[in-house]
Amino acid sequence: MDSNADISARRVSGMDWLWMVCFFHLVTSLEEILLDTTGETSEIGWTSHPPDGWEEVSVRDDKERQIRTFQVCNMDEPGQNNWLRTHFIERRGAHRVHVRLHFSVRDCASMRTVASTCKETFTLYYHQSNVDIASQELPEWHEGPWTKVDTIAADESFSQVDRTGKVVRMNVKVRSFGPLTKHGFYLAFQDSGACMSLVAVQVFFYKCPAVVKGFASFPETFAGGEKTSLVESPGTCVANAEEASTTGSSGVRLHCNGEGEWMVATGRCSCKAGYQSVDNEQACQACPIGSFKASVGDDPCLLCPAHSHAPLPGSTECVCQNHYYRSASDNSDAPCTGIPSAPRDLSYEIVGSSVLLTWRLPKDLGGRKDVFFNVICKECPTRSAGTCVRCGDNVQFEPRQVGLTESRVQVSNLLARVQYTFEIQAVNLVTELSSEAPQYATINVSTSQSVPSSIPMMHQVSRATSSITLSWPQPDQPNGVILDYQLRYFDKAEDEDNSFTLTSETNMATVLNLSPGKIYVFQVRARTAVGYGPYSGKMYFQTLMGGNRKQARLPRDLQGRLLHVLTFLSFMSCSKRQETPYTDRLQQYISTRGLGVKYYIDPSTYEDPNEAIREFAKEIDVSFIKIEEVIGSGEFGEVCFGRLKHPGKREYTVAIKTLKSGYTDEQRREFLSEASIMGQFEHPNVIHLEGVVTKSRPVMIVTEFMENGSLDSFLRQKEGQFSVLQLVGMLRGIAAGMRYLSDMNYVHRDLAARNILVNSNLVCKVSDFGLSRFLEDDASNPTYTGALGCKIPIRWTAPEAVQYRKFTSSSDVWSYGIVMWEVMSYGERPYWDMSNQDVINAIDQDYRLPPPPDCPTVLHLLMLDCWQKERVQRPKFEQIVSALDKMIRKPSALKATGTGSSRPSQPLLSNSPPDFPSLSNAHEWLDAIKMGRYKENFDQAGLITFEIISRMTLEDLQRIGITLVGHQKRILNSIQLMKVHLNQLEPVEV
Ligand code: AMP
Repeated sequence: MDSNADISARRVSGMDWLWMVCFFHLVTSLEEILLDTTGETSEIGWTSHPPDGWEEVSVRDDKERQIRTFQVCNMDEPGQNNWLRTHFIERRGAHRVHVRLHFSVRDCASMRTVASTCKETFTLYYHQSNVDIASQELPEWHEGPWTKVDTIAADESFSQVDRTGKVVRMNVKVRSFGPLTKHGFYLAFQDSGACMSLVAVQVFFYKCPAVVKGFASFPETFAGGEKTSLVESPGTCVANAEEASTTGSSGVRLHCNGEGEWMVATGRCSCKAGYQSVDNEQACQACPIGSFKASVGDDPCLLCPAHSHAPLPGSTECVCQNHYYRSASDNSDAPCTGIPSAPRDLSYEIVGSSVLLTWRLPKDLGGRKDVFFNVICKECPTRSAGTCVRCGDNVQFEPRQVGLTESRVQVSNLLARVQYTFEIQAVNLVTELSSEAPQYATINVSTSQSVPSSIPMMHQVSRATSSITLSWPQPDQPNGVILDYQLRYFDKAEDEDNSFTLTSETNMATVLNLSPGKIYVFQVRARTAVGYGPYSGKMYFQTLMGGNRKQARLPRDLQGRLLHVLTFLSFMSCSKRQETPYTDRLQQYISTRGLGVKYYIDPSTYEDPNEAIREFAKEIDVSFIKIEEVIGSGEFGEVCFGRLKHPGKREYTVAIKTLKSGYTDEQRREFLSEASIMGQFEHPNVIHLEGVVTKSRPVMIVTEFMENGSLDSFLRQKEGQFSVLQLVGMLRGIAAGMRYLSDMNYVHRDLAARNILVNSNLVCKVSDFGLSRFLEDDASNPTYTGALGCKIPIRWTAPEAVQYRKFTSSSDVWSYGIVMWEVMSYGERPYWDMSNQDVINAIDQDYRLPPPPDCPTVLHLLMLDCWQKERVQRPKFEQIVSALDKMIRKPSALKATGTGSSRPSQPLLSNSPPDFPSLSNAHEWLDAIKMGRYKENFDQAGLITFEIISRMTLEDLQRIGITLVGHQKRILNSIQLMKVHLNQLEPVEV
């Protein structure tokens, strides 16, 4: 079978073809030699027929080596048929044999004489045989027993043979034949009249070498019988590799083509799990310690993920370290994760009978994204050491109790006056795999802790077409330090759901962006650490009309009542005028509870003082009172300690002021006027009137009993025994009481430590509301001096009140500053032994009391604020309360005392807080007025010089982000001072 056709690629699948391409380049074939005459120097001894045909001759090659060749050159006679036959050549397993012939042929054209019979070709034959049976006759010398391979022509022929007989031009031709089936074969070369020399004959076959490829080893494989045949060779996976068929066929195979080249791989091996490829896919090596390979394949080993380890080589997965786990849904190559740490910053807010618990995510989520929270609710005994029990089923959790994804839960249906413990567990998907208990945060909540009580009223401080400024008193029962207030408001014409809220740290807020002439509904509530109190009743306030209508009309009955109030006020004696036109303050206060604001009514404006008493004080049956001992003497008689017991009610300790016998009607009226005033007040820091006894003798005023008596003597007795925080707490109480009184439009005029009473809980209450002391000249009391029948406590009184009887809440603020000084100096006499006149002169020359020993600088600065010469620049009581509240909340502010302060500490101080000449820039100024937090706001707006800052308005402050009303006021107040300092303008009220 002729097999010299061109190699045509066998049809293979796409995948096979791919592999074939790869292997074509990678695998070189091997030639196995069956016969090679090259280099033979001794006789080869092939058989010639006829004997004068081919002859074996020795010649020298171009390198002068002697070689054996076969020559024939019988061209002269036509019909040449010269055969040369090789020895028997053993097949040695070859299926196809290749013959490489080196020969030279004489050019016929150069020999004109024999041109007709001359040949330049010869024919190659083969004959298969299982045994070497050849003889001189057999196989016979004709084509019959021989199989023709090819007629071989010379590409190069020559015309000259040199002197040495050297072949000038050499042809090399390769021919192949197969398939071979017998043990061996002979080759024969038939010459038909050429002049040629057969220089070398090489007989060989191809085989594909043993190879390791794709993690499989393949044995040496002989090429097939046809030139195009592919001999399949099964492979064996190398150690630690296994079959991973990509084509779906089983078995790993390579194919050896006719030229001894490996091609067409089917199936393949890959390194097992735990092993990776090395040496270019020759071998599979175990993954080193600390790394792993999860599956069979060509991927490399990977380092163990977080919190896992592979202690042995060849690991298919990394095991989790102690306390770390993989959840069922985690892949085996995922990092190991832990349980989350406890939730952070667990806090609560009591809202009615519910508790809103909120917390922050745990710091450590255990390396996972999933985190859930479970709530455990326990009821705990409040006092005894009993154990807590799980809350009953009635307690409800919103949105749910377990598997919370948000950091908040509302627990409702709680019982009142019960101590609850809430645990918030943080869990994740590996919590159940862990032997450790989930981490949790815990908080105790006592439902007996109360939120602040509701705020009884609200009043309007000012209004404009688009804004309303409201203020309100502290709730009667704050039940803790008030952190802030929340004001809720909405247009009365609209749905309540469209309400807005704003938060104010002070008990005043300005609501902006309102529409002109509209009625808005307002509610306010206070917040302490326990939570929000209930909202106040709804109160209605109207913005100014857009046009000239400045005042909204009041309902007819309200007008009547307000007129009544106005009338009383116009009768006030001893220069007791309102500091702002009263009509400005009368706005439309219609609340669900009636009049939204309450003003103090001067009892002396009643024609019949008994009527005022009847209206404001409760008559007590004298039989309910038990007088026990005399504790002091007042202006009108003795002050006693006693007990008051109304039938069916609890017994109270009370103080009983008596009117000494022999009094005049005038004295009786003055005595009882204090009760008429006191009876109008209801505040925890204002002495509470229980009632009066007027229907029997002696006439009595019964008030709550204050165990520690008056503040000045109490402090003197306890000198140095209180912490600064306790003293500030007392001051806060007095300021709150005064704020209430000033909200009521009551000007005390005699605020001094001697007129503050202290109970057993150190609660300070403002007392002494008599009118008489200012009216009567009493030479025996040097504290109260003055002309025109008005006696004034000079050391406690603001200069404008001393000079022209301008008594206002601002002059009460001055007095409050003196009370602060008294408190911080444990009852020292203000201005020591200076005479009243010296005090008046010193104040006039801008000298002020220095800080008492160990007095925190902030408190002395507050005193100096209270002692501003211009009363409009003094803080309001509500500002004083919030300043003190801040100190109480952040006691570190009380650390710095006069000695460390940059402010001078001398017997009497120049009054200029903040001391502009000593301030060189805006930052120092903001620090001086305790508004340092806004430095960045000022800087960003380019507000650096006092010149620019002094021109700022409220709107400017709002624009640069200062939204708290208290802060706005403080800064604007100071800007006013700054203007004065820069001589820009006279101070005006802001
Ligand atoms: P007064 O007439 O209000 O100045 O009272 C005279 C003195 O009686 C005071 O300085 C107190 O020492 C004492 N006193 C007055 N009211 C009370 C009270 N409610 N509780 C305890 N002591 C009081």
